[in-house]
Amino acid sequence: MLLTARNLEKSYKDLKVLKNVSLDIKKGEFIAIIGPSGAGKSTLLHLLGILEKPDSGTITISGQELNLLNASKQANFRNKHIGFVFQSHHLLPEFSALENVSIPLRIAGIDEKTAGNEAKKILVQLGLANRLEHKPNELSGGEQQRVAIARAIIQKPEVIFADEPTGNLDSHTAQEINKIFIQLVDQYKITLIIVTHNEGLTKLAHRVLYMKDGMIVEERMKSD
Ligand code: ADP
Ligand code: MG
Repeated sequence: MLLTARNLEKSYKDLKVLKNVSLDIKKGEFIAIIGPSGAGKSTLLHLLGILEKPDSGTITISGQELNLLNASKQANFRNKHIGFVFQSHHLLPEFSALENVSIPLRIAGIDEKTAGNEAKKILVQLGLANRLEHKPNELSGGEQQRVAIARAIIQKPEVIFADEPTGNLDSHTAQEINKIFIQLVDQYKITLIIVTHNEGLTKLAHRVLYMKDGMIVEERMKSD
């Protein structure tokens, strides 16, 4: 198993947002999470992506139980193993597309030239060869999300969590971006867990998890 989550619970004050959620994800799986607004989808993704801590329960990724790591070890682990794509791009405004994508490699101690070359390669694959020096506010929404995807992929993490990454885009742009995203994830054998309302994506997913009221209430395999 690439990821095992057991009995995850999370509350905000007296609001129970996740109730006893358990989940197993195999290496190379492509999982779509769907469900109504407020169901706890983003919260679950944040816990699995080590952006927030559960109140109780355990998460093991690539054999490492996250509870056993202190905060700085968790940050290192995250940098090495996990990519995250948010609904809004979360790019750093003062840096170019190339620099934004290079940052995870620079943090990992890779020199500027090597990091830049690698970032360029991924951005070209995402169709942004002519946007390398553009800052986020000089890019369209779709281009910004492609940069955010490139940044998540650059480290070739074992797993990428994506939270409605094309939710703010028109359907044509969303379709185009999802297609390249899936291709890249497949090419680099990255496990993908994506919260999405996009039907095209849920059709492609190996497994669709339906969340409601803080629980996974239904699971559908592709062959069903
Ligand atoms: P989804 O992504 O499925 O729409 P979320 O996981 O974002 O749902 O949120 C689940 C519930 O938890 C919602 O009712 C939301 O208002 C609440 N919630 C999320 N984050 C916080 C927070 N930081 N503080 C308080 N309540 C929150
Ligand atoms: Mg959400």
